[in-house]
Amino acid sequence: MPSTTAAAPASPSVPTGQWFTTRDGKPWWFDSGAPSLDFAYTGDLGLGHPEWEQLHSPEDLAAWILTRFPDSDGIVHPRHLTDGIMLRDAIGRLTVRASRREAFDPRDVDAVNLFAATPDIPPALEGGSRRAGRQTTSTNQAFATLARDAVSVFSADAVGRVRECAAEDCALVYVDTSRAGTRRWCSMQRCGNRAKVRKFRAAQAG
Ligand SMILES: [Zn+2]
Repeated sequence: MPSTTAAAPASPSVPTGQWFTTRDGKPWWFDSGAPSLDFAYTGDLGLGHPEWEQLHSPEDLAAWILTRFPDSDGIVHPRHLTDGIMLRDAIGRLTVRASRREAFDPRDVDAVNLFAATPDIPPALEGGSRRAGRQTTSTNQAFATLARDAVSVFSADAVGRVRECAAEDCALVYVDTSRAGTRRWCSMQRCGNRAKVRKFRAAQAG
């Protein structure tokens, strides 16, 4: 059922979507609809899929950040990896609970709020004669931007857009950013087409 809540005001300048490998072993493009959820899907969201882990080293984190923040300074220390995984796993658990319409664990909310309270990437108007402020994005600024995205995604008026894929055998969660609020699948190419094929077969058989 389409949600009547407003679309989550996700950070429009941060691209979403990434290659993702589920249990069939084939990588496919999963656009979760929000940078913070994409970040959550570099881990297993607390669902017991250790094979989903993509951030094994500070270099892995630096590479992921660069896909979202091209101005990243690339400086990722081991403590950044620890912080990033803390933030990511908190967002992951919030994602699962939001999709199940369950109450959030206040500790996860605290973690997101902690990072969201730090300086993020400042907005800038195009067309000026010089660039104000620093030229590059630090890892901490990237975390703050992701945390603030999570704040908007999980806020009371937007959280209805966080949904589980409608396919029975798929529990992936996305943010529906479509204007009409009618997104049903993790991916049209994957679960959407499978459902269409199933419906077609049923119609042929019936
Ligand atoms: Zn799906």
